[in-house]
Amino acid sequence: AAALELIQAHIRDVPDFPRPGVLFKDITPLLNHPQAFAAAVAGLVDPFRAGGVDHVVGLEARGFIFGAPAALALDAGFVPARKAGKLPADTLGQAYDLEYGTAVLEIHADAITPGSRVLVLDDVLATGGTGRAAVDLVRRAGGTVVGFSVLMELSALPGREKLSDVELHALLSV
Ligand code: 5GP
Repeated sequence: AAALELIQAHIRDVPDFPRPGVLFKDITPLLNHPQAFAAAVAGLVDPFRAGGVDHVVGLEARGFIFGAPAALALDAGFVPARKAGKLPADTLGQAYDLEYGTAVLEIHADAITPGSRVLVLDDVLATGGTGRAAVDLVRRAGGTVVGFSVLMELSALPGREKLSDVELHALLSV
């Protein structure tokens, strides 16, 4: 409980970002506080330690920041899932819906060892579109998704329903 309070105390609400009417959850104060940052990384990985994890897939861009220390903590490889066109070698891509239009998420085609255990990780679960695309990508690459771990789920949005076939772990629900 103390760890969760420390984490929560270092997430800042920013009204009207990136657009009027949106209350953005800003995690940069947490990154700048080493005890809160460490507590967040521990909270993201702890439920998945016992089962073993081979790869952590972090979602661009804030999922990279939490995913890299999470991978080291789990003795797992780190795999970046990026927006289309950023990864240099052969990729697998998955389209997903945005509020307006669609986007494509990519991983390197050789990044996930077939049969491996994969934890997908991000800072915030909102509509679930990004997480859904990442889970589908990992499965297409032959990996087993052991979980999707986020700092925060925005419970007014349907992210959890969109990921009903995945073990979803959210440290905070707001
Ligand atoms: P979704 O695809 O679930 O709608 O959106 C999740 C993605 O958008 C995540 O990669 C997350 O980083 C970002 N996102 C959406 N809303 C917020 C927010 O309020 N705060 C932060 N930090 N990220 C957000």
